[in-house]
Amino acid sequence: MPKPLSSKLGVRIALLLSMVSLVSMAQAPLPETVTDQETELGQAVYDELRDKGEIIESSPLYQSLKPVADAIARVAQSRYPHPLKFILVHEPKPNAFATPGGNIYVLDSLLYFVKNTEQLAGTLCHEVSHTIHRDAVARMAKAQKIEMREIGAAILLGPTLAGTLAIGLTGDLHSLAYSRDIESNADVTGSDICAAAGYNPWGLVWLFREFQDTDAAQVPQLLSDHPANGVRITTLEQHFRDNPSVFSQFNPDPKSATPFNVPKDASEQFLRPDARGDQ
Ligand SMILES: [Zn+2]
Repeated sequence: MPKPLSSKLGVRIALLLSMVSLVSMAQAPLPETVTDQETELGQAVYDELRDKGEIIESSPLYQSLKPVADAIARVAQSRYPHPLKFILVHEPKPNAFATPGGNIYVLDSLLYFVKNTEQLAGTLCHEVSHTIHRDAVARMAKAQKIEMREIGAAILLGPTLAGTLAIGLTGDLHSLAYSRDIESNADVTGSDICAAAGYNPWGLVWLFREFQDTDAAQVPQLLSDHPANGVRITTLEQHFRDNPSVFSQFNPDPKSATPFNVPKDASEQFLRPDARGDQ
């Protein structure tokens, strides 16, 4: 058993953590307000991924990603005060995740995994919506108590507050489990963004449907991280029906999908772990 934290240190940690949640709570009604903590937290995650040598600095894959990412950022940027950036990361399991501060990480394997542009756009729009809704920040605040011991141990080693909090976030990146409501909200906002960007919002539904009857062990992490697909499909379909002026123009048939072109075995150059953290 690890030694319990001294109560003085415990109080100090609790104060630091509550400062973060108070600031974000106080600013929640004003979506345009910039919170420095968000940028700081995002930078801490970026630094960690860079130090693990996972951030892809250059690759032909960016040429495939860029047009979709740019179109989404163009319509979504006005809803988030920090620049939205799509960063490729090397990992074998197809996924994408958003961190506070505007960075959306796209795993290279996702680009090979998706069957069409609409599925990729749907995934990216969903992640951008987590950013806009500040879901990661909210979850970190909620997780503080559970992770207090881990956070306390990290503070003893001397990282910054943001770095300390980010440990909780990065530790969770591969087992993201938002509630069904949070996921559905991100789906709905994401479908609005995709529609505005000109991408058929049915893409996310197609992705869900492909794995609806698959054995849990075979479901890619992308979808097991974001559970309850049946309800999420129903929620999206209802949203499409409720807003025919936006969604009736889009074809629900996956046969209408646009192929997504990605170079086979594209080369990847990684950001060196000792490179500067500035983006
Ligand atoms: Zn999600």
